[in-house]
Amino acid sequence: MNMTRPLLALILVLALALPARAGSFGSSALLHGLWTEAQLAGTPADRVVTKPWSKDPDLTPPARLDPLRRLEPVPANLRGVVRRVDPARGERLVALTFDLCERASNVSGYQNEIINFLRAHRIPATFFAGGKWMRSHPEKAMQLMADPLFELGNHSWTHANMAIVDDAEVARQVLWTQAQYELLREELGKRAAARGLAKDMAAVPESLRLFRLPYGRNAAHTLDLLAAMGLPVIQWDALGEWNDGSGAPEKSVAHALKSVRPGSIILMHANAVPKNTQLVVPLLAAALEKQGYRCVTVSDLLLSGPVETVQDGYFEKPGDNVQYDTLFLGGGTLHPRPAEPKTP
Ligand SMILES: [Zn+2]
Repeated sequence: MNMTRPLLALILVLALALPARAGSFGSSALLHGLWTEAQLAGTPADRVVTKPWSKDPDLTPPARLDPLRRLEPVPANLRGVVRRVDPARGERLVALTFDLCERASNVSGYQNEIINFLRAHRIPATFFAGGKWMRSHPEKAMQLMADPLFELGNHSWTHANMAIVDDAEVARQVLWTQAQYELLREELGKRAAARGLAKDMAAVPESLRLFRLPYGRNAAHTLDLLAAMGLPVIQWDALGEWNDGSGAPEKSVAHALKSVRPGSIILMHANAVPKNTQLVVPLLAAALEKQGYRCVTVSDLLLSGPVETVQDGYFEKPGDNVQYDTLFLGGGTLHPRPAEPKTP
């Protein structure tokens, strides 16, 4: 009896039954081969955020201006500003996302308690890293790159407001960040090779393949520029850090859960700028699990069904972020300058 056909049918059934995978984002052998548990866990120094304007703004470019790799333009089905996905069969998937924003006017931190929690509980997440942040936190950036749980995306070089800067600046902000990622991946590759782990580098993506708009701001034309550079724009439909002034993490969780539904993308930060996100994450993860949700990376979420898009980014309601066009200086890349102390 010819067994080939039933075998092929079985393989087909299995392939259809398995969820589509976006590919891998790292390797456990790499992560644990290059860093000790203590190095991965980090120290309180990781969480230091320097004072804005404590020194002159850092406007220096990365060591490589142009990425070696360019991406294919974004396919039509992923154009626009993605706020959520509509998973097939209503599958209860959500994506936790953490921005690692850093402007030119200071150095932000790395909230190691968040990453340590996610690692301990095997919760996948997506980090949108600023290029300058990756340069000022190379070890942390490489650890996130190496970790198979975590996906990285591009969050511009110094947090430029894409609604108000010119096209050349949009390109610099995006491509410098792509180039910085490549530089760190090359360094990771050298270390991997020195430990006999070169083959594990195949699991680390060669380029960042997602983009998040700083301040959620864009001009209509920004989306065309980003699509041409091959980067789908991923925003959110739920805020994980809503603050009523009390700082109570339970309030943030309750607020987030009002918006969360299958396919939601949840916005948070891991740059230690918001002060209680590390308290929100365990409560939110527990609440999501209780409601039957499973956390996946953004790329895996995008494979689960059609995306829901808008044409302009925002926090909760269209236009609720326009104040950022004037709040920050230098096209969004600088904090407001503190008032000069009065001389008597
Ligand atoms: Zn940001």
